[in-house]
Amino acid sequence: MNAFSRRGACPALSAPMQTGDGLLVRLNPVAGGLSPKFLIGLAESALRLGNGIMEVTARGSLQIRGLTAESATVLAAEVDALGIAVRTGVPVETGPLAGIDPQEIADPLPLAQRIRAAVEEAGLTQRLGPKISVVVDGGGQLTLNAVTADVRLVAMRTDAGVRWQVSVAGDGQNAKRLVAVEDDTAHDIAVAVLRMVAEKGREARARDLSERQLASLAGWHSMAPPSVLPDISPSRGEISSFAVRARSSTLVIGESKDGSAISPLEGEMSGRTEGGAVEHSRRPIGFFNLSHAIALGIGLPYGSMPADKIITLAQNALTLGTTEIRLAPGRALLLLGQPTAASQPLQDTAATLGFVTSPADPRTRIAACPGTPACASGRIATRDIAETIAAENADILDFTLHISGCAKGCAHAGKAALTLVGGENGAGLVVNATAKALPAGYRPGYDAARGISRVAAMIRSARYQGETAAACLTRLGPAAIAEAYRQARTYQQE
Ligand code: SF4
Repeated sequence: MNAFSRRGACPALSAPMQTGDGLLVRLNPVAGGLSPKFLIGLAESALRLGNGIMEVTARGSLQIRGLTAESATVLAAEVDALGIAVRTGVPVETGPLAGIDPQEIADPLPLAQRIRAAVEEAGLTQRLGPKISVVVDGGGQLTLNAVTADVRLVAMRTDAGVRWQVSVAGDGQNAKRLVAVEDDTAHDIAVAVLRMVAEKGREARARDLSERQLASLAGWHSMAPPSVLPDISPSRGEISSFAVRARSSTLVIGESKDGSAISPLEGEMSGRTEGGAVEHSRRPIGFFNLSHAIALGIGLPYGSMPADKIITLAQNALTLGTTEIRLAPGRALLLLGQPTAASQPLQDTAATLGFVTSPADPRTRIAACPGTPACASGRIATRDIAETIAAENADILDFTLHISGCAKGCAHAGKAALTLVGGENGAGLVVNATAKALPAGYRPGYDAARGISRVAAMIRSARYQGETAAACLTRLGPAAIAEAYRQARTYQQE
């Protein structure tokens, strides 16, 4: 029996989520990776017990879809039988190459483990909501910049040696920076943040901490650590001394001027989000040099793949000597342990199977939920539309295109440059907003890809030399984009 089953604490296996195509289970192996044999076993379970669709999410969780209440129970037993230990408690996440990347600034694993232990010891897991997370990022080839978290510790080199930049409530770009400190202090501050959040209740997040609390955390290194500060809304005068210090020494690069601490969250195609990712990191796709080996990153198109193809890939990997397959944030698998000479044939097999093997693959720019027919709530065939657009318009896809079966927006909860959303009127086009916004124009769902081709043709004809398609869209504005989308014919037909 694995740790989850004993404690009944893992929301993934103990409480599967209802989605449009049945129940969904999300799991994260404690070890971060699986042997190819274990992945084959899981995929066989997915085929037998679910609808055969497996996903790797933007945060690197594995999802199995299309389960029933009965089959989800059987799946939990089969995960136990395989001996896969599943992560429980507050996620304390490290990068997929943590501890083995020669380019990382510091190995984040020991610090992450200490934080996990402290969270357990303090009994915080039960007091914190299920979306709370901590990131410990040692830097290197695959950072966790794109992953949002309540607490972030990011290794940095300074004249005094390695320090951990502590920040809260956001991703690598927009989290509120507090202070850069040694690992013991970083550990203490991380746990203090979680205590403060717990004090506010299970719905609270780090973004809810007051300026006074953030200032006290930022000043941790230069004063006696406070006990958990109550959330007292201070008067202007009360916060001034803290705030001055915070502004001058802590809330620096990347601080959000408008005070917004959380970036838009990118969903997980599950009917609910586990917190998300934005696009400002190297993708975990391609070859990554390790000390004496190469890691091979392989992406799942739109984060999803039929289980039988995952079985074929894992069997091939096993044959070629892969010893571990890690789940990587960014909807990918990292294959480790195979001889260097085996990596290219493995990549070729993955490409033949339809996996994403190049970071330049246009499918990486498209977030698409399962849509119809997989999801009962879907109104458009999102994945088919995505495939057509990726095949026809790769040259202009330098922005995020979100294709959502309905207004729920499971695949990308934040704004996207363009969003196609299924609804009663067909496929609506939303410009620079979320799937929940009012579309600026509509086309029949079956014809949505042609509408995007029309927009793409407008971009090709209107953009200046050196201008990105994203910048061109901004310049053209929603009215012109919607008008192009609504037109029945493409430029090529005119
Ligand atoms: S957004 Fe997509 S996956 Fe989510 S409920 Fe709608 S159709 Fe289903």
